[in-house]
Amino acid sequence: MATYEYAKSFIDPEYKMFIDGKWVDAIGGETFDVTCPCNGEVLAKCAKGDERDVDRAVKAAWKAWPEWSQTTPMERAVILNKIADLIDENEEKIVWANSMEVGTTRFAWGSDSFRYYAGCCLTNDGLANVTENHRVNIVLNEPIGVVGQISAWNGPFIMACMKIPPALAAGNCIVYRPSSHTPIGTLILAQLVADLLPPGVLNVVTGPSSTCGQAILDHPGIHKVSFTGSTETGIKVATAAAKKLIPATLELGGKSACIFFDDVDMNNAMIGLNMAIFMMSGQMCAAGSRVFIQDTFYDKFLEASIQMAKTFKIGPVWEDETLTGPVIYEEQLQKILRYIDIGRKEGANIAYGGHRLTGGIYDKGSYIEPTILEGTNDMTIAREEIFGPTPVFIKFHTEEEAIAMANDNSYGLAGGVYTRDINKALRVARGIRTGSMWVNCYAEMFYGYPFGGYKNSGYGREMHKMTMDHYSQKKSIVINTSDYMPI
Ligand code: NAD
Repeated sequence: MATYEYAKSFIDPEYKMFIDGKWVDAIGGETFDVTCPCNGEVLAKCAKGDERDVDRAVKAAWKAWPEWSQTTPMERAVILNKIADLIDENEEKIVWANSMEVGTTRFAWGSDSFRYYAGCCLTNDGLANVTENHRVNIVLNEPIGVVGQISAWNGPFIMACMKIPPALAAGNCIVYRPSSHTPIGTLILAQLVADLLPPGVLNVVTGPSSTCGQAILDHPGIHKVSFTGSTETGIKVATAAAKKLIPATLELGGKSACIFFDDVDMNNAMIGLNMAIFMMSGQMCAAGSRVFIQDTFYDKFLEASIQMAKTFKIGPVWEDETLTGPVIYEEQLQKILRYIDIGRKEGANIAYGGHRLTGGIYDKGSYIEPTILEGTNDMTIAREEIFGPTPVFIKFHTEEEAIAMANDNSYGLAGGVYTRDINKALRVARGIRTGSMWVNCYAEMFYGYPFGGYKNSGYGREMHKMTMDHYSQKKSIVINTSDYMPI
């Protein structure tokens, strides 16, 4: 049985920023606190950077770029593989630190990414063609330069591992800014890579979005931006990138549909529902927060879901029995409660839950009951991203109706379909305009499965070799191999 003290022992009391291969205080000398959502206690102090810190990080990155961009793919692949080994060796630390700052139960995921992109790096071939008049055309993949990366709070270590390796593999230098709610995972990654990467190749700045984050968007030295976060902020990122004419990739919010037909095994359906929306207290971009259930078995499904929700042990991450932790912070809890209230006012039925949890440790963190809402696809709770353990159950009768309702939403990030009829599963998977669909499983993400959004869920893909293209530009070189030179 772990304790709070044990879990916290993996976190340093203070973190500086990582710029130009050195650990430095913010130029302004200020710090901010990172708290544990499970009990509200301060986990660590972090350097509170601003525009000046971003500026020195960008300068350090450009200083490192001429040499780093000329390294061979093999040299970069060797380094990425060494980082993967270090991640594995430090798995316990990473898993606990991630759980403590996010408040979600323990899972780690990171070394795969470095190994995957080490492979991509070695196979990121260009092109060569012989054309008319004995011309040879060579197309090279070249790095973009210094890239800015900004991430959301809900998977700090995982997100850093999604963004950093493809950018490095393609030969870029990075200025990375994690969310101020959960900066620790990225800083631990920086600690691991500090001796492996030349100074300035990876820089991690921490500080408020209004200064530090905005400065990454505005700085003329940032030549590409990769962003993970809400659609609202994503629009600001895209606008800033457009003003500078730089490429942006955007991994944004979702309101995904998880569709259950009446031929499924109820146990599998419950595992699917859990993966879709209760895991991580629903704080997952790909969450299947709209649950479409065929009317012919709706009552049985609802009953099984309520029975499952009753068994969930909600508590702090260091307790072994805990299945689900709190939500990230009080403001987010209040937002979820507001949505539940809006649902109630618009006529939704709260079939289970609906309240914050109180008493004991619950009073110290932001804990909420798993909440099952029964509603319709046009309600606010079914249209907007809530980011909580709050599925909206919606009845459907026919396959066509399920597809139409799933598509009737501005987001298009993910989705799932459960049925034993493979033809139906494929028709539904193809019919929904969304970046990822899972059939008889949910939220399974591995390197090699491209992840990213349609519609308001963004553009660009992560977790796949195609991500290398987002961090590369194409150089065409034409060589005249003919001795005959027309006048
Ligand atoms: P958010 O949009 O509030 O913030 C995302 C990041 O942007 C944070 O680091 C924040 O500090 C920063 N930021 C905010 N304003 C900025 C500005 N003006 N300039 C620069 N940076 C700025 O999102 P969040 O609350 O951190 O995360 C939750 C959201 O992220 C949800 O919508 C979720 O669906 C989405 N998300 C998407 C994915 C994906 O892969 N599609 C993954 C995880 C989370």
